[in-house]
Amino acid sequence: MVLRINPNHQALWRNPFEMQLGTGTNPVRLGKLSNAQERFIAALYKGIADQQLPLITAQLGLSSKETSQVLKAVDGLLLEDQPVKNSKIKLDEDFVVGAFAEIIRASLLHSADGEKVLIGRASRSIHISDLDRAGLSVALGLAAVGVGHLISHDELKVDKANLGPTGYPTQLLGQPRVDALRTLLAASPNKTMVSTGKKLIENKRQKIDCAVLISQQVIEPSRYATWMNRDIPHIAVTFDSERVWVSPMIIPGQSACLFCLEKMRTQQDENWPVLATQLLASNKRFDDAASQLFAAGIVIQKILARMDKIAGFELAQENLIGFSLELKTGLVIEHTWPRHEACACQLIS
Ligand SMILES: [Zn+2]
Repeated sequence: MVLRINPNHQALWRNPFEMQLGTGTNPVRLGKLSNAQERFIAALYKGIADQQLPLITAQLGLSSKETSQVLKAVDGLLLEDQPVKNSKIKLDEDFVVGAFAEIIRASLLHSADGEKVLIGRASRSIHISDLDRAGLSVALGLAAVGVGHLISHDELKVDKANLGPTGYPTQLLGQPRVDALRTLLAASPNKTMVSTGKKLIENKRQKIDCAVLISQQVIEPSRYATWMNRDIPHIAVTFDSERVWVSPMIIPGQSACLFCLEKMRTQQDENWPVLATQLLASNKRFDDAASQLFAAGIVIQKILARMDKIAGFELAQENLIGFSLELKTGLVIEHTWPRHEACACQLIS
């Protein structure tokens, strides 16, 4: 085992005598250090094999007390053992250069080699229901963080409503949206594959790790029934007249589901199903740029938390909370709801 301080925790000097390792809420402050301890910290940034530790500290002239003082202080900053086995997947060099911030973020989140976290993501498949502008933002974000495979059953073509600075470029007008996404990704250094859901054979569909459902105002229940029946985690986004809403990651059998939510809404307002049916038929759109980009950011973060967890990288929190952004007040509000006693999702737990 190698003891190595995660190099993404920056070493800073608070004053000529006091070091600070890392920024954010829990940096490590090191009071007056001896020269030997400073050199020891520098060596820990490079990495020390644990069998070599007594030899190196002896060479530096550190007592066992001084050594353990430093090791205790930096314990939370050390890289952890990698859950990713030796993978045959290699990240493209150009992609690595462009994904610099992703690699640092992944490394800090998981106290691990950031590139290995991204390699873990390369074997993941995410389904995106619609490749409208919001779906496109999610797709591009997921490609940027290293997701290997994007799947969609979207069969529409890029129309004028899909064009714009946060949508497709004009040259792709009239192209099937799946092909247009493929073209956009091919123009940048990454290896994300894009597949049409219809053409996938059934066993590949079963390997979908997570699905994203995007809709205006109301989600048609048959759309999430598909993922519930297949036992596939999913996350929903709706844009409405006041807010954009991103659900928690719904894990069939473990968390409350979107049917639970509908039942709760009907309990609160018995006319909700009648209203929802009319809203489903509406062609109004509320995915303005601020809502679109907010939703994409939250969805990407939640999918990453889920994928990295599957790969063995634990996160402190389960990320089982949804959020909405209220456009008028600018408030970001947390959303969760309990499982409904009359919901069939109880049966699959
Ligand atoms: Zn339910």
